[in-house]
Amino acid sequence: MKIFIDFDDTLFDSNKFKRYFENIFIEEGISRGNLRKSYDQVKEKGVYSLENHLRLLRLNFGINEKIIKEKLKVLFSDLSNCVYSDSWKILGRFPKKDLIILSFGQHSFQRKKIIGSKVTPKVFRVIITQKRKIETIHEFMKKCGYSREKIVLIDNRAEFLEKIEKADHKVLTIQMVRNNSEKIAKHADYRVKNFGEVIKILKKEEKKSSGK
Ligand SMILES: [Mg+2]
Repeated sequence: MKIFIDFDDTLFDSNKFKRYFENIFIEEGISRGNLRKSYDQVKEKGVYSLENHLRLLRLNFGINEKIIKEKLKVLFSDLSNCVYSDSWKILGRFPKKDLIILSFGQHSFQRKKIIGSKVTPKVFRVIITQKRKIETIHEFMKKCGYSREKIVLIDNRAEFLEKIEKADHKVLTIQMVRNNSEKIAKHADYRVKNFGEVIKILKKEEKKSSGK
């Protein structure tokens, strides 16, 4: 069994991170409104890039990029308190070789967050992709020669899970719903609120496959 786990809003409390992140800019005199507007502007061009965001803020508001960069460096040096407490359970419960973080987004920003979260020593691989997740999963499985292994994907985003179900119904899909605003996936095998529930599901799956 290979377990692909999404990062943002699944393992990691992205709202909590966002508060820390935004406060750095607010302390330097940018209003929350302007910050979010500029964030959306950067995102409009595709995936979020911190470098582009800083450039835009410098051009529009003359921020002190050096101070902000220093504060960001401190923030990114330890983000372990943004990892949901139940996330550590799954990271210790299954062999490292079976756990893969699969995150969608811009490589350098995601990488900074994931490394800062301190979860990487617990997983076999971290994959950051801008392709469709199913494509990335299939590529990885092929490259590693795991043709017969069961694939599990745990993700919060309904659209990712629905696409996976459509493309490969053999993948076991589990939607992580951390908050009420999350759109519910129409086609996912399970819906859970935390990794305690995921562990129970996967234990059952393991029994099923070993009984074959
Ligand atoms: Mg996510």
